Amino acid sequence: MSGPYDLTSKTIDSKISKTQAGNYALGTMGSGQKANTFLVGYVGRSDTDVAERLKDHVDTYEKFMFSYASSVKAAFEEECRNYHDFNPPGNSVHPACPDGKGWKCPYC
Ligand SMILES: [Zn+2]
Repeated sequence: MSGPYDLTSKTIDSKISKTQAGNYALGTMGSGQKANTFLVGYVGRSDTDVAERLKDHVDTYEKFMFSYASSVKAAFEEECRNYHDFNPPGNSVHPACPDGKGWKCPYC
C-alpha cells in the first residue's frame, strides 16, 4: 500500500487518479518512539472505486493508505489478509465476500 496520506477529499483526489477496485487502511500516526508508525484502525475495500469509498470515511480517521486491486477477487483476498494481519479495532466483523460469489477467505 502507499501512504499514509491525510484523509481528506482533496488528498484522496490527488493521490488516487484511477477509478478502480482497491484496498485501504485507515488509522493514525503513533506518538513518541512510534511517531513514524501507522497504527491501523480499520481496513476495507471497494470493488469498483476505492477513492469514492474512502471519501465516505473522511473525518473518521486521520490518515489512509491504499492500493489498487487487479480484480474484485484480488481486492477481497487482500482485504482478508489485511484483516487477519492487523486485527483492526474498527472492524467488528470479518470481510464479506461480494454478493453472488462463493469465495472463501484464504486465511481463515
Ligand atoms: Zn478470514
